[in-house]
Amino acid sequence: MSKPRVRREDLKPGEVLCEYCTARCCQYFAFPIEKPKTWSDFDHIRWYLMHGNCAVFVDDGTWYILIYSPCQHLLPDNRCGIYEHRPQVCRDYSTDDCEYDNDACYDQFFETPEQIWEYAEAILPERKQPVWNRPRRYDPLRLPVL
Ligand code: SF4
Ligand code: SF4
Repeated sequence: MSKPRVRREDLKPGEVLCEYCTARCCQYFAFPIEKPKTWSDFDHIRWYLMHGNCAVFVDDGTWYILIYSPCQHLLPDNRCGIYEHRPQVCRDYSTDDCEYDNDACYDQFFETPEQIWEYAEAILPERKQPVWNRPRRYDPLRLPVL
């Protein structure tokens, strides 16, 4: 049976918040990306999101890509399987400001290609032609000019 969910402020002395969590912070990883400025930049993000199991969000003006993928060392009971040898990023993370009781309230959050494209259409000048209508260049490794 799963443990009852408790509020941070209800923790008793000596209790650890993680004991009541489903290890939310071990279910994904995220890293900053360049802020998109052009149609080409947004087209790249559209491509990221086509792969699923990922999202792009903006927090305090910084853009991030988030990949939903549980850590391979997460145990079935939501404990860390390599606690003594866990990476520094895990050691530096604290329950003080973790996502235990927040629902990812970021400045912006995009989960689908359609969402990021709608946003691009709202903020960028009108493009002459959708990129997918442009003729392919001879060199398939070159990016299309947008
Ligand atoms: S640090 Fe926060 S999000 Fe991570 S397992 Fe502990 S309570 Fe859950
Ligand atoms: S190494 Fe341990 S603490 Fe770090 S993400 Fe994996 S399971 Fe979580």
